[in-house]
Amino acid sequence: MSSGRDVSVAIIGAGMSGLCMAIKLQQAGIESYTIFEQASDVGGTWRDNTYPGLTCDIPSRYYSYSFRPNPEWSRFLPPGPEIQDYFRAVADERNIRPHIRFDTEVRAARYRDGQWWLTTERGDEPFDVLVTATGFLRVPRYPDIAGRDTFAGPSFHSSRWDHSVSLPDKRIGVLVTGSTGVQITAELGGNVQQLKVFQRTAQWIAPWPNREYTRVTKALMRRLPLLNAVVYRFWAWFVSSIFGRAPVEPGWQRWLYSVQCRWNLRLSVRDPVLRRKLTPKDQPMCKRLVFAGNYYKAVQKPDVEVITEGIDHIEPRGVVTADGVLHELDVLVFATGFDARAYVRPMEVIGENGIALNDVWADGPFAYRSIAVPGFPNLFMMTGPHSPIGNQSLVPVAEDQADYAMWWITQIRDGRIIAAAPTEAATKEYNDSMKAAMPNTVWLTGCSSWYLGKDGLPELFPWVPRRHRELLLDRDLRDFEVRTA
Ligand code: NAP
Repeated sequence: MSSGRDVSVAIIGAGMSGLCMAIKLQQAGIESYTIFEQASDVGGTWRDNTYPGLTCDIPSRYYSYSFRPNPEWSRFLPPGPEIQDYFRAVADERNIRPHIRFDTEVRAARYRDGQWWLTTERGDEPFDVLVTATGFLRVPRYPDIAGRDTFAGPSFHSSRWDHSVSLPDKRIGVLVTGSTGVQITAELGGNVQQLKVFQRTAQWIAPWPNREYTRVTKALMRRLPLLNAVVYRFWAWFVSSIFGRAPVEPGWQRWLYSVQCRWNLRLSVRDPVLRRKLTPKDQPMCKRLVFAGNYYKAVQKPDVEVITEGIDHIEPRGVVTADGVLHELDVLVFATGFDARAYVRPMEVIGENGIALNDVWADGPFAYRSIAVPGFPNLFMMTGPHSPIGNQSLVPVAEDQADYAMWWITQIRDGRIIAAAPTEAATKEYNDSMKAAMPNTVWLTGCSSWYLGKDGLPELFPWVPRRHRELLLDRDLRDFEVRTA
């Protein structure tokens, strides 16, 4: 049960990290929280993305809250719709929905007179603490290609899939081969009349087979929660020690992934011309590594073509490449990624003395340990700048960040403090130490990717995932300006 004063908390976003924050508040006996959600359901990215082939490439046992295992996962890598069902089930079981204001967009959040005032269509409302849980790959990015809007057939971004369009009888163009484009291609290749994949940059593909779990496995997981916990711990160890180490430190782990990707391509694609087309120029993991067991099989099917000629323009009948060839299409899909620098924006966030987050971040988003910003007291960001993202399970990352925010929230509830924001000096020191660690990472080995910020440096966490937890467990008050009664 809670003690101390009532502390009101606003959470923006009812996706994986917003729900996680809500559960942590409930566990601390704090029910005075409101989640603002602009859509009409929970789930965030897993609600928005519904494209064919959508799968998370993190093992399902580890893409779950540590406190809520899911024995029912159907596969080693969880299919998108199952992940969405999981988060919906958690919201129901924990009775979080009554706290959520659906279809409510927060237009602005302003820190005034010691509180956060949130502006929605209902007017302004004050809260003691603001937690932003808006995700980071949310705002779709469309390519700047001449004639993009002139295409006569259905065309849409991968995260806005139009399910009213039937696919098997269509000639479909998939623009580009990032993680999403690869998954769509792997699913549609051979199952539609024709598939044309427009590749700008080849990707390294790691061969994770996505095997189905048997009824026996599910029954075992249901009956033996300890077994579930052991498997979860195994993947936590694997991600931290092997997979999570490979991109941030040179060593055998990086070499292992590199060899795996190169052999996967060599053994899977026999035609040397196609193999050359599919061979990336950069190192494996420089861009986000794509995991797809069946991509190479899909692109070798008879009605699938990988086009590497640059796109000149789009016209009503299809895509015209630089060599003047018109690729006639019925449906055009833009799998061109997201604005990875948006974070909470376009929402306006105004801190103390009227400073705007947009201005503070003019040269690129930054934070103290990914979670707080100087001048913005009692603001905590889930999966904020330089969070361990990329090929990681974001669920344990969000749990650690929620625990960190909870520590401050309980200080406020128990009356020990009124407000806290990190100091400029501590934030600078933290960001400088990250910059110094970047040259060790594979992300700076000569590719372009959404990982890189305006200054050309990766906006990712440059250390092993375990370090992130350690940093958030270390609550150093000297790094904060703390206001007490
Ligand atoms: P992405 O990785 O950013 O890929 C975007 C693609 O669009 C790239 O191939 C890029 O080409 C291309 N592109 C961008 N602008 C273009 C332009 N103007 N003309 C031509 N091509 C253009 O986006 P995503 O595939 O949607 O994936 C985003 C992130 O979502 C992933 O990195 C991952 O973190 C997450 N995700 C995860 C999963 C999973 O768990 N399995 C699945 C899907 C997505 P270049 O490479 O040449 O720049």
